[in-house]
Amino acid sequence: MKSVEIEIDHIGIAVPSLDADSYTFWKALGFQASPKIETVSDQKVKVGMLPLVNDAQIELLEPTSPDSPVAKFLAKKGPGIHHICLRVKDIRAVMAKLKDQGVKLIYDEPVKGAHNCLVTFVHPSSTGGVLVELSQPGERK
Ligand code: ZN
Repeated sequence: MKSVEIEIDHIGIAVPSLDADSYTFWKALGFQASPKIETVSDQKVKVGMLPLVNDAQIELLEPTSPDSPVAKFLAKKGPGIHHICLRVKDIRAVMAKLKDQGVKLIYDEPVKGAHNCLVTFVHPSSTGGVLVELSQPGERK
């Protein structure tokens, strides 16, 4: 099967807090220091990124507000995999292609994600139950 020009960017895991407890397993695997924390105000989350050698990352997500989508996820399902993120070259082109095929996107326009990425989310009802984030990398500073 011919592959599509899409890569796994990261896997987002909802955690109640980015404290030492949420980090125990990753430390046992060999991650040395606590994750670098970034706040994504649009999504009302604090994000801790654990970089893997294949240019993908594990993204630990802590809600910063009770009305954060991640807070709602934690209340409903508890900690666990929240979304997978696929890296695309041209997010607007991919969004247009998906919309044409009736795929339900959460945002009509890309929004700003962590490290200047442009992102959108695909509704789980269109993907077989998984929240899928699409991300176009920003300019690296
Ligand atoms: Zn993400």
